[in-house]
Amino acid sequence: MPRIYLSAPDIGKLEQAYVNEAFATNWVAPVGPHIDAFEKEFSQAVGIKYAVALSSGTAALHLALRLAGVTAGDEVLCSSLTFIASAAPITYLGAHPVFIDSDEVSWNMDPALTIEVIEKKVRAGKTPKALVLVHLYGQSADTQPIKECCDKHGIKLIEDAAEALGATYKSGTPGSMGWAGIHSFNGNKIITTSGGGMLVTNDEKLATTARFLSTQARDPAPHYQHTTIGYNYRMSNICAGIGRGQLSELSKKVARRRSHFAAYQEAFKPFPGVTMQPEAAWGKSTHWLTCLTIDPSKSSVSREDVRLALEKEEIESRPIWKPLHLQPIFAQTEYHGRGVSDRIFEQGLCVPSGSGMSDSERNRVIDSMVKLFSK
Ligand SMILES: *Cc1c(COP(=O)(O)O)cnc(C)c1O
Repeated sequence: MPRIYLSAPDIGKLEQAYVNEAFATNWVAPVGPHIDAFEKEFSQAVGIKYAVALSSGTAALHLALRLAGVTAGDEVLCSSLTFIASAAPITYLGAHPVFIDSDEVSWNMDPALTIEVIEKKVRAGKTPKALVLVHLYGQSADTQPIKECCDKHGIKLIEDAAEALGATYKSGTPGSMGWAGIHSFNGNKIITTSGGGMLVTNDEKLATTARFLSTQARDPAPHYQHTTIGYNYRMSNICAGIGRGQLSELSKKVARRRSHFAAYQEAFKPFPGVTMQPEAAWGKSTHWLTCLTIDPSKSSVSREDVRLALEKEEIESRPIWKPLHLQPIFAQTEYHGRGVSDRIFEQGLCVPSGSGMSDSERNRVIDSMVKLFSK
């Protein structure tokens, strides 16, 4: 039986044509027309002024944090329920993450709790330098109250929209509301460049400086001259070609992922204890991954029973991200929470959701899961 993956790349013909064009014109470098075009098309797609194409989403976050002025010893607030890449760049700069729990309605950073923590820190004279707000599994966080609090205290809001390209939040899009936003084009994301990322902002100086730092911080001089240390973080023109092709199909990919979620939701309705990730009223989720929780006190099976049974049938599934406050590396790190992300982690499962997954593959997953839930 062929294996069904969680979120496999979904590549079309246009991507191949753009890559061929890059070869034919010899733009096989981290500079070239596809990069410029991809930045322009991307900024239009998400509704923001500037986009800087980079080698990864992690690189984009590293640059955003550095340009927010984060230095050794600073505190940076960050969602706990997320992938390590949301917080790793905070530590690259010698700064300290402070993790915040999720709310129940979106699984993202709890605005009330976040504001409480910020106000307490401000009163104590320890205003955080920046805040990394993650939009998990294709769903926007409740950005507005968090943004208002950040603005009030001069805290730079950096949105980690690596999983949320194509989603909406009120009249905007996740990643475009804060001072800076980052996107990822890793192989399993909603669109891929095989590997890559984007820094987005309405701040022209941030965009210009990020581009400068991403190409080894070369001063304008005929020789190589440097007044600061930069990085080799620019996206390749080949990858940007793939990205342009992928971006042209974004709305189709979003619709397909949403239809997967709807089909799972319909099929699992009869089973007590099986709950889909809620979709908050403030926006439209892409359902990058279909996520659900299984409450073992109400269901005949546990999350692990399901995951292991699916694995035997060559179906990939995965627990929800292990919250960062539970990670061994962050055992000594400050955390504010009420047990929400802990429960979501213990009960949560991501099931195959790729935009390239066929109806018959999806039915295979649904049939297997329904069989388990009916036990
Ligand atoms: C994928 C991801 C990243 C990192 O992106 P890369 O392009 O893999 O470096 C950051 N944050 C979240 C939430 C992600 O899922």
